[in-house]
Amino acid sequence: MTPQHVVLVGGGYVSLFAYRALRPAIRAGTARVTVLSADSHHNFHGFTGEVVAGLLPHPLTRAPLARLMPLAHVVHGTVRRVDRTARTATVAPASGGPDRVVGYDHLVVGAGGREPLDAIPGLAECGFSLRAPGEFERFLGRLDLLVRVGGTDPVLIIGGGLAGVELAAAVADRLRAHGAQMPVVLVHSGDRLLPGSPPRMAAVARRELDRSGVLVRLNARVQQVGESEVRLSDGGAVVAAAVLATHGQRAVIPPGLADLVRDGRGRLVVDPTLRAAHHVWAAGDAARVAHPVTGDPVPANALWAIKAGAHLGRNLRRVVGGRPPGRLRYRGLGQAMAFGTGRSAAELYGVPLSGWAGWLLRLAFFLRFMPMRRQALGVVAALATGPVRGRYPLPRPARNAVTSAHPAGQAPSPPAEFRCPAAPTLSAGTPQPVAGRPVAPSRAVRS
Ligand SMILES: Cc1cc2nc3c(=O)[nH]c(=O)nc-3n(C[C@H](O)[C@H](O)[C@H](O)COP(=O)(O)OP(=O)(O)OC[C@H]3O[C@@H](n4cnc5c(N)ncnc54)[C@H](O)[C@@H]3O)c2cc1C
Repeated sequence: MTPQHVVLVGGGYVSLFAYRALRPAIRAGTARVTVLSADSHHNFHGFTGEVVAGLLPHPLTRAPLARLMPLAHVVHGTVRRVDRTARTATVAPASGGPDRVVGYDHLVVGAGGREPLDAIPGLAECGFSLRAPGEFERFLGRLDLLVRVGGTDPVLIIGGGLAGVELAAAVADRLRAHGAQMPVVLVHSGDRLLPGSPPRMAAVARRELDRSGVLVRLNARVQQVGESEVRLSDGGAVVAAAVLATHGQRAVIPPGLADLVRDGRGRLVVDPTLRAAHHVWAAGDAARVAHPVTGDPVPANALWAIKAGAHLGRNLRRVVGGRPPGRLRYRGLGQAMAFGTGRSAAELYGVPLSGWAGWLLRLAFFLRFMPMRRQALGVVAALATGPVRGRYPLPRPARNAVTSAHPAGQAPSPPAEFRCPAAPTLSAGTPQPVAGRPVAPSRAVRS
């Protein structure tokens, strides 16, 4: 029997957990798996805040795909096009050279999402995002520069969702640890933080941000990011030393799948078995997966990407074995965020948790789902020795570590050193804003 060829697009949670569920089929000879990923490594995003704050070293959150998926053929490159009629995916290899055409029997779209940089003029050129390969490293490089150069102009974070709130606190913590003077400003378009979370969790998060000294600016949208200042919809302007975009995301769908049904965020709409079309499957941030009970779209987070990815892999195992796929029945668990060791805002099956209880729960969950045991042990060791060892230094961006994989139509970002050239050398003298209060008019922020 010829094994059916399953091609996994992306090296994130969906692909990893689909691969793991497919391993018995690979060993049985009913499936062979190829992974096409723009990043050579799997990124464990859960500990991003800890890496920014210097509580964990960045390499501990990255794992080589070839080692994680030894039974698969891993191709490091960006999928440029899918031909559904010919059932092929065209890949631009990261190492250069001509495009490769890879045939498939089943295609799994697990390419995740990206911040919609083109929605705000100037953001792609002057701001930083997190999800494109190499982007997080570039942001850390800018933070490193700011810590070394000094100054008092703020780091501005766009978006008051889980990622924005957690990162605002982490950046503030990192800057404070280095004795840097610049404040962190979080700009959010809604009238309360964490719109997708229970109000009590949002209230705890707000208290934690105040405690971290993060200045929260609600009911304001960033309208334009320029080389010298950021313009807000409420008439204010911020002279920012760095701008980080966490204001939602748009699904990354390779060209050639445009005729498939998508929702307002560009996600592929899948049926309860996670199939988007004949021979095409999707999960994670790239898919609109309906909750099995409510029918609402499930949140775009690691838990759902892991569970849906694993279910998708099991379904493909059934299909290549001649059986019908089954419906996703997973109902969810909760959500959690941390603000440094022992501080958290979380909910588990609707029950709110904070402080050490939520922090330990989150840690246990993340350790359970880290792709390598060695990484999980490293996290425990790093957190345990942190009080003695101090902060990990910010990594300097490694050149050519990853390839860029900006979605079609989105301009590739220039390297950090060319962004907002005036920012890192802005002169000191900005009055220190009062933590937790609305930002006062100053050189840094004016209304
Ligand atoms: C900073 C940050 C912090 C987060 N913190 C949390 C948290 O605390 N808890 C939580 O539950 N969730 C968190 N999330 C969300 C969570 O990480 C995502 O929901 C999850 O990663 C989605 O998994 P995925 O497999 O769909 O996509 P991803 O994990 O994003 O993987 C997408 C993969 O596709 C690849 N790719 C993209 N385009 C192409 C292409 N054209 N060709 C080939 N490969 C391509 C990428 O390189 C990547 O390997 C966080 C996300 C970020 C960015």
